[in-house]
Amino acid sequence: MSRPVIVGGGLTGLVAAERLAVHGITAPVLEREAGPGGVCRSVEADGFTFDLTGHLLHTRHDPVRDYLRTLGVWDRLREHGRRAAVVIGGRFTPYPVQINTHALAPEVRRDCLLGFVRAWAAGEPSQEPGSFAEWVLERFGEGLARHFFFPYNAKLFRIAPEELTADWVGRYVPRPSLEEVVDGALGLHRGRTGYNATFRYPARGGIRMLPDAVAARVPELRTGAGVRRISLRERWVELEDGTRLPWSRLGATCPLPVALDLLADRPPAEVAAARWALRWVSVLCVALGVEGEAPRPEHWLYFPDPELPFYRVGFPSNHGDVAPAGCHTVSIEVALDPDPGGLETVADRAVAALARTGLLDPSRIVVRRTLLVDPAYVVFDRAWRDAVPVLRGFLERHGVFTAGRWGAWNYSAMEDAILDGFRLAERLAEAG
Ligand SMILES: Cc1cc2nc3c(=O)[nH]c(=O)nc-3n(C[C@H](O)[C@H](O)[C@H](O)COP(=O)(O)OP(=O)(O)OC[C@H]3O[C@@H](n4cnc5c(N)ncnc54)[C@H](O)[C@@H]3O)c2cc1C
Repeated sequence: MSRPVIVGGGLTGLVAAERLAVHGITAPVLEREAGPGGVCRSVEADGFTFDLTGHLLHTRHDPVRDYLRTLGVWDRLREHGRRAAVVIGGRFTPYPVQINTHALAPEVRRDCLLGFVRAWAAGEPSQEPGSFAEWVLERFGEGLARHFFFPYNAKLFRIAPEELTADWVGRYVPRPSLEEVVDGALGLHRGRTGYNATFRYPARGGIRMLPDAVAARVPELRTGAGVRRISLRERWVELEDGTRLPWSRLGATCPLPVALDLLADRPPAEVAAARWALRWVSVLCVALGVEGEAPRPEHWLYFPDPELPFYRVGFPSNHGDVAPAGCHTVSIEVALDPDPGGLETVADRAVAALARTGLLDPSRIVVRRTLLVDPAYVVFDRAWRDAVPVLRGFLERHGVFTAGRWGAWNYSAMEDAILDGFRLAERLAEAG
């Protein structure tokens, strides 16, 4: 008898299977990698623990907090007040930069302040901006655009801000008030630290503690079980070793383009066209274990400077117990095109560039791992809005429910993956 099957043992797929199990339904989870967790897994090396770049937990929803308590995870997390900075022209100023320009060079501060005041005086921003560039200019003004938002996002998404839409930004980049911006330029903080001011992280070890806790409750988790074909007409999945599993409904938490590329059936032309419209970037995480104290107190730093190959650098041992005594960890993030080659060369350049900033002494590196996340960020260009419903709708009509950050082809976080897992379990449990 066929039953629901889940492709992908990341957080979304694990949570869906765990929820189904609570309702007496065993859905096999098929995971390509040797262990569960997907992008939330952690890698151990010589006493260091590395996440696939910083994975910090923000929870806004009570059902998610309750779920983490049920799993026994909540009490093993420690709360931290965010310490993050933006580095412009070699100067460090607290994040978010729009309400913290005070530590920047006077000319940069003037540009940012004047630009914001002009944008603010121009009135309410439009609800449907034509591009990310327009969205930034209307809300933050020309100075903040030029010194931070444009170069930073061009480096991260690898396309011009004019080609990006603002479909993803609302929740992540709120507009400050005029008072906040003026206070921020003058260094008058009044205790404000901005949004997302706290996060949680495991008191011991890396973020894998979270997916591991879910995986322990999944009745049928098959790791090293990559899916190589999906038949919509006959409703089976075929594993790399040739085994076929029938399914009643399929949960696809693997990336949306992967699900489409695995189809044994030829999709209609409009679906094929929408698949090829999807764009994304990968991220190379250069994870370092380094002797001595971390060079800065921050948890992470943003680098908009186009001359530097990385967009963000973290010091995870500043918030986690992830390094042996007397050492610290560094996580350098470089955005690349999909399926990039020459990763060690990219990592060499990133390490050399960080050394030039004075934040790393390469002679004190004791461990280095290059960890690729591909896909890492969906590129929200103009094709995204039309393509995604076509693709997800087509799959859903055939009983395939896509979910998770890359399954739904969106920009979201671990809390969303948990909520997506809840919803996916409901869809898979429905008779179909
Ligand atoms: C650089 C970066 C930093 C991030 N930082 C944070 C953060 O600080 N806080 C936060 O909350 N969130 C963060 N996130 C987001 C977080 O990683 C995701 O929300 C979460 O991992 C999504 O889980 P998922 O299960 O949907 O996807 P995934 O973890 O990608 O799971 C999908 C799984 O499918 C598997 N798979 C793919 N193809 C196949 C196949 N053919 N057969 C079988 N299995 C397959 C993959 O191996 C993978 O395990 C970050 C993401 C990135 C890229």
